[in-house]
Amino acid sequence: MVQINRGNNAPPPPPVQRIPLIAGNWKMNKTVDESLALIDEMLDDLNAYEEVETVICPPFIALFPAMELIEDTEVKLGAQNMYFKDNGAFTGEISPLMLREVCDYVILGHSERRGYFHETNEDINLKVKAALKYDLTPIIAVGENLAQREAGLTEEIIGLQVEIALREVNSYDASGIVIAYEPLWAIGTGRAASGEVANDVCKFIRQTVARLYDQSVGDRVRIQYGGSVTPDNISEFMSQSDIDGALVGGASLKAGDFVKIVARTQECLAKKK
Ligand code: PEP
Repeated sequence: MVQINRGNNAPPPPPVQRIPLIAGNWKMNKTVDESLALIDEMLDDLNAYEEVETVICPPFIALFPAMELIEDTEVKLGAQNMYFKDNGAFTGEISPLMLREVCDYVILGHSERRGYFHETNEDINLKVKAALKYDLTPIIAVGENLAQREAGLTEEIIGLQVEIALREVNSYDASGIVIAYEPLWAIGTGRAASGEVANDVCKFIRQTVARLYDQSVGDRVRIQYGGSVTPDNISEFMSQSDIDGALVGGASLKAGDFVKIVARTQECLAKKK
């Protein structure tokens, strides 16, 4: 085996380039026809921004026709949730085995799933492992509520969410996942976190991943900010050191706004270089 002796004067290895990821979470909005019309309206524009990875997460029933519409483009599809079993008597659920035929990503642990549907950190861990088994990339959503932030518990809550979500996930898989920091007080409220506040938590998430694995995994994992992201504030987030993209709710339902968010993300990338 060839040993590379870097010596004291050897240049440091180049920094890891994390491709920015903008994902649109449409939630329970848009019929199939409306979904296809919205994708059609923005597809060419989204496809033109080659340095940003763009993911659209429409409702389940729109995924299959959406897949046909986006083929031959760089735009990707994600699901908003899934169950952790492959198949069986689980009425109303959708499995990773089904999703992998139609999409590349799956959002897991969104605060609406945690809140309205009582999903626990342990449930999310089962889903993360099931998604990875079928080569779906999980976008794991984590975040604190206002009372937790005011009580100084942000890092404790988010550290635990990240640690449990990644239990029994190997370092290779962990490097490829996406974590979305979504403070509950910023989701759908029009009151986004400041770039600095969001970056502090994203940096903490990266350090947590590095502690659980090693620095190279921490450097590779992509961390998004989510919570009232708009074309007007995306640049503030994308100019931060540890924010690699955004999970966008409301603004992803307007073609013009979503395209602008992707465009401004690419502009920020050019400025960072
Ligand atoms: C979300 O639901 O993931 C989200 C961030 O929503 P909004 O952008 O509307 O705050």
